[in-house]
Amino acid sequence: MNAVPASDLTFDVRSLPKVSLHDHLDGGLRPQTIIELAARIGHELPSTDAVALGQWFRESADSGSLPRYLETFEHTVAVMQTRDALARVAAEFVEDLADDGVIYGEVRWAPEQHLQQGLSLDEAVEAVQEGLEAGVDTVESTGRQIQVGQLITAMRHADRSMEIAELAVRHRDSGAVGFDIAGAEDGFPPSRFAEAFTYLAENQFPVTAHAGEAAGLDSIADALVSARTLRLGHGVRIAEDIDVEFTNDDDGDGDVGLVSLGRLACWVRDRSIPLEICPSSNLQTGAVAGFGEQLSEHPVDLLYQTGFNVSINPDNRLMSGATLSDELELLVDTFEYDLDDLQTLMLNAVEAAFLPLEEREALADYVVEGFANER
Ligand SMILES: [Zn+2]
Repeated sequence: MNAVPASDLTFDVRSLPKVSLHDHLDGGLRPQTIIELAARIGHELPSTDAVALGQWFRESADSGSLPRYLETFEHTVAVMQTRDALARVAAEFVEDLADDGVIYGEVRWAPEQHLQQGLSLDEAVEAVQEGLEAGVDTVESTGRQIQVGQLITAMRHADRSMEIAELAVRHRDSGAVGFDIAGAEDGFPPSRFAEAFTYLAENQFPVTAHAGEAAGLDSIADALVSARTLRLGHGVRIAEDIDVEFTNDDDGDGDVGLVSLGRLACWVRDRSIPLEICPSSNLQTGAVAGFGEQLSEHPVDLLYQTGFNVSINPDNRLMSGATLSDELELLVDTFEYDLDDLQTLMLNAVEAAFLPLEEREALADYVVEGFANER
């Protein structure tokens, strides 16, 4: 790290090659698209002005309560119930990632929430895949490159996890790269879905699980044991298993922190289990309220400096009003991260991506080259 203030940055975060692993399809719509799709089906919105609607999403999501944050999705999910709507949202999602400099993205969404107008689970997955591929074509037609994969999410409060796991595996050769569980974390531990996770493991299908966001260490432990998860969606509350003791050093020029890790934190760090950290979202939902309300108090820096496999993600770009580049710029401003730090965070994401080794190696080379061009 160095101490160059962000305003003096000699690099442009947006032009750096980036990898986004935790980005919800129903949390990344353009406000204007929501307005147009809602008008078609007569769905009432809090505003029909794109700027005001975007602001409404950010403010509602800013309440500090996860349930209120999740309420905003009622509007986005409502307008994503047809093949055309899903395909359009997916295509624009890819274009927006590319505009932000993302070269590989994993897009997560829950097909079971998009069946209200008669689509089947398979038709919904195919519609999103069609849109993602159209988005990739549009990006390529402008001379840029992007690769995307679907993470098929099962909602924890519903009891469809086995059906969704089978759906994901069925589409493994046509766009699905992994499985995820999302929704109410507290009270719906992965152990409830043991059958689905066993099926996924037997089929060597990659799993990430939201854990360590709305619930703490028990939830993380259960995700590792019952879900056999390869990554932790957020996982940020693993920091609750880290003790930092401050003592004055001999020079008297500040405090020195002594860091000690509990057994679970050791396991997650020492085995390099990837943490999909979403800084702005964590502040909005109160996931890190135990640490403070400011980004400077967010444990992302502690986790990064202590050697955890930290990647940075936007979670829901519409609700946070922030892209992956914005999230990285916030870290640069707050923790004085430099180009080397950002490259490390990106290479962590590459390592954690649900891609074959050869493709991850190629992606890593591309990232390193892109960063070298900015130096
Ligand atoms: Zn999420």
